[in-house]
This record gives sequence, structure tokens and C-alpha cells, in this order.
Amino acid sequence: MNDFMSKVQEFMRGRNGSDELALASIELAVILVIINFFANNGIISLIALALVAYAIFRIVSPNVNARRKESMAFAEKLGPVRPWVSNPVAAFKDARVYRHVTCPNCHQRLRVPRGKGHISVTCPRCKQKFDFRS
Ligand SMILES: [Zn+2]
Repeated sequence: MNDFMSKVQEFMRGRNGSDELALASIELAVILVIINFFANNGIISLIALALVAYAIFRIVSPNVNARRKESMAFAEKLGPVRPWVSNPVAAFKDARVYRHVTCPNCHQRLRVPRGKGHISVTCPRCKQKFDFRS
């Protein structure tokens, strides 16, 4: 097993490895496969296969800089959905304990605890105070 792991490490040296975009592709592929369990559509399974192939391409790609740029552009496009893609379990736990609000002044996203009734929030970026019902 150790020998296998060192071979994997050897293979992955200088390669991109798993990143957010590869992870998102695999997640989407899994979702499509589940949908296809009911839909039984050839095109859906082809798309799922293409997504997995794309994820593998990213993981073994030696062009780390290009892949990193794509991944960052992707993360930017995701915006608030990003935590749900990169770590759905943590995002789910987070969503149960916290609420996300947007500062009315600078539109910075803030995390506030749930179930505290009326609370006053100070934006850490622009220091704007606003009331909020959690
Ligand atoms: Zn603000």
C-alpha cells in the first residue's frame, strides 16, 4: 500500500491535482448520474462522462498555472454559491447555525448567528450599523 501511495505521489508531482473546478465537475456528474437513474437519457450520461473526463484532465494536467487561473475565474463566478460547491457538508452545517446578510452600504456579505432575535450588526468593512432579525 505504501508503495502504491508513493507511486501515486510520484505521478502527481508537478501536476495540478484536485481543485475546486474538478470537484464541481465530479459533483455535477454524480448529480447527473442520479438524475439519469430516473431519466435514463443517453445525452445525460454522455455529459456526466464528459464531466468526469474533464475532472481527470484537470487533476493530471501538468499546466498548473492555467488550471489555477480557470479555477479562480470559476470560483469568482460562483459567488455566494461557492461554499455549497467546494464543501457542501460544511456549508449545510454553517447554514443551520448562521445566516448570511448583505451590508446595505457596501454589499459585503456577513455571517450572523441564527435565532438571536433582533440584533444590531456592524459591518467589518465599512463600519455601517444596521438592524437585523436573525
Ligand atoms: Zn459594509
